[in-house]
Amino acid sequence: MRRRIRITGLHCASCVRRVEEALLAVPGVSSARADLVSREVTVDCDPAAAEPGALERAIEGAGFGVLRADGGGEEAAERERLRETAGLRARVLVSAAFAVPLLWVSMAPMAGISLPPWIARHGALIQFIFCVPIVGAGLPLFRRGLLAILRTGRATMDTLVALGAGAAFLFSVAESLRHPASGPAHGGGHLYYETAGMLIAFILLGRWLEAAARGKTSSALRLLVGRESRTAVVRTAGGETAVPVEEVVPGDVVVVRPGEKVPVDGRVKDGESCIDESMVTGEPMPVPKRPGDEVTGGTINGPGSFTFEATRTGSDTFLAHVVALVREAQASRAPVQELADSVAAYFVPAVLLVALVSFAVWIGAGRGLGFALTVAVSVLVVACPCALGLATPTAVVVGVGMAAARGILVKSAAALQTAARVDTVVFDKTGTLTLGAPVVTDVTPLGGRGAQEVLRLAAVAEKRSEHPLGGAIVAEARGRGIEPPDPDSFVSRGGRGVEASYGGTALLVGSAALARERGVDLSAAEEALAAREAEGKTAVLLAADNVAAGVIAVADTVKEGAAETVAALRAAGKDVAMITGDNARTARAVARAVGIDRVLAGLLPAEKAEEIRRLGAAGRTVAMVGDGINDAPALVAADVGIAIGAGTDVAVESADIVLVRSDPRDAAAVIGLAKKTYRKMLENLLWATGYNTVAIPLAAGALFGAGIILTPAIGAVLMSASTVIVAVNARLLRL
Ligand code: ADP
Ligand code: MG
Repeated sequence: MRRRIRITGLHCASCVRRVEEALLAVPGVSSARADLVSREVTVDCDPAAAEPGALERAIEGAGFGVLRADGGGEEAAERERLRETAGLRARVLVSAAFAVPLLWVSMAPMAGISLPPWIARHGALIQFIFCVPIVGAGLPLFRRGLLAILRTGRATMDTLVALGAGAAFLFSVAESLRHPASGPAHGGGHLYYETAGMLIAFILLGRWLEAAARGKTSSALRLLVGRESRTAVVRTAGGETAVPVEEVVPGDVVVVRPGEKVPVDGRVKDGESCIDESMVTGEPMPVPKRPGDEVTGGTINGPGSFTFEATRTGSDTFLAHVVALVREAQASRAPVQELADSVAAYFVPAVLLVALVSFAVWIGAGRGLGFALTVAVSVLVVACPCALGLATPTAVVVGVGMAAARGILVKSAAALQTAARVDTVVFDKTGTLTLGAPVVTDVTPLGGRGAQEVLRLAAVAEKRSEHPLGGAIVAEARGRGIEPPDPDSFVSRGGRGVEASYGGTALLVGSAALARERGVDLSAAEEALAAREAEGKTAVLLAADNVAAGVIAVADTVKEGAAETVAALRAAGKDVAMITGDNARTARAVARAVGIDRVLAGLLPAEKAEEIRRLGAAGRTVAMVGDGINDAPALVAADVGIAIGAGTDVAVESADIVLVRSDPRDAAAVIGLAKKTYRKMLENLLWATGYNTVAIPLAAGALFGAGIILTPAIGAVLMSASTVIVAVNARLLRL
């Protein structure tokens, strides 16, 4: 059983690790993955072994909060994020309102500005009064940080902030009590109220900016979810009633009025209209629909009105699948992030150690308790691994989201990362480079039967085939007024043809190779086969009772954009090849038309996969683009399987990337996008590590000799900025 739980208090890579470990420790849990961007954990567990509530308890035990009201799914999450953002904004406003006067009272004397005497006299008390509301605004940070360390014995980012700000505040309170008349104005004692106040104010500011940036990052998913309908009008014996869309079941008759959204998937019963299907096909032109045509939930009806019978509802609809896929992919972790995550696991303890050591060193150097404390606090604050944790997840969310908006479903972050390094792109022919909607062009009867009879027998054999060639033959027969009867038996010989029996006759329709294998004498057929293939057509043979009975030629149109795609990939330095089960002559004719010169022809499905593996073994990173008909094994064998057209379920299952619209140009687009996303990931990782490498020694006072030191407040600014920069940089991704 898979469960998704929304949690609060998740801020950085080390938190991710902690919550995952806590969940994995629960009996019955087989995997747990936390996602920083969506603030969700995905848990696979055995419902029998894991007792109810155990997961929630484990999460809370690790110092995080659980959002239980998960009814509205995506919308609830968005509401929660907005609530969090609004809450943070209020806290930022409060802390800023008090931080400014606090800063003035504490800093003015140092800057040589004289304060009114009554303020100067009560400097410490006034600073204390200004600081308390700021501490109040930051109370959740303290609570979470302390709870985490108390419950699990491990520090989180909040612990670091709580320790830093708390130490500065308490130290100042103690100083104020010790020298009641002290304060900067009197030159006695050391107060760090402004350090604590500014620190909290900036951390809150950073969290607020981060929450806002996070919302923008996941906007693509919200756009998809926004396409889901809430209600549907169902026609029953009693009339038409509007019901919540969750209550629609397959078989219901749904009414769609002009301009309305189609609520679920189904088939038109009566009425006619044009539907804007751009979300599914990316095609902006409305598509005409009449009875019998398929409609997809989430598409928008044009001026007509119609009824349709629901076929897929609830979580089975195409849109629901897309949303689930995108969500899963966005939450998945890119392999490059793994290193960052394992570094982050040691990060917090290491930072505590650095803080402690610098504290001791500065005390030892005789700089006094106050200075040593400031340094330690700076180190704690500046070192948050937030940026490190968000480095690749933000880029993944943006990349996957942008792809989805264009009808490209990337199924995991790993697929995106691999696609970025692809150097060889192999295209399937039929249905991928060609429309896969072939039409019969020639029927050559052999051995005495008439052309009509040849077509009829072939159509009987192909009636149950799902291959485009079979479809073409059946369509041609019907076009000529022949309604093929059902065969008595039927077997599909994947990648070679079909065999069937009808009225005592054994029928075979397929490649010459298959016929030859069955012992059919091809001498009468050779001439017709050779002539059609030279024209770039696919010629298949009909054999009746193992005697050649005719040659049927089928021509497929090369897709618009196929040649352009090949040229674009070449320009990007990729090797492009074509792989097909069709014969070499036909294959070469098509390859020439699209500009491919490497052709692997005459291959069975398993051999296609074998060829792909061979390329992989030769050190190539291979993307295989196919339609899933006879090439699903090759899609699996490739480093990146790209299924074109969401036509077959096998294709969607076997592929890493699905091109929903059947446009080959999307194959080049997704490889380009993957490369850019990967570059963002690297930039972000580089930035995050670079930032920490420079900031921590600075904060520890490594350059104090040169007069450079980071105050805790500046540390907080840097830390927040580093996180926001990572999120913003990901946002800058363009297709
Ligand atoms: P591609 O690799 O171009 O997508 P396939 O692997 O699907 O082509 O099919 C390879 C060859 O097998 C076809 O060119 C045809 O000769 C034969 N074939 C496959 N299925 C059928 C069928 N249903 N009817 C006739 N021939 C078929
Ligand atoms: Mg194919």
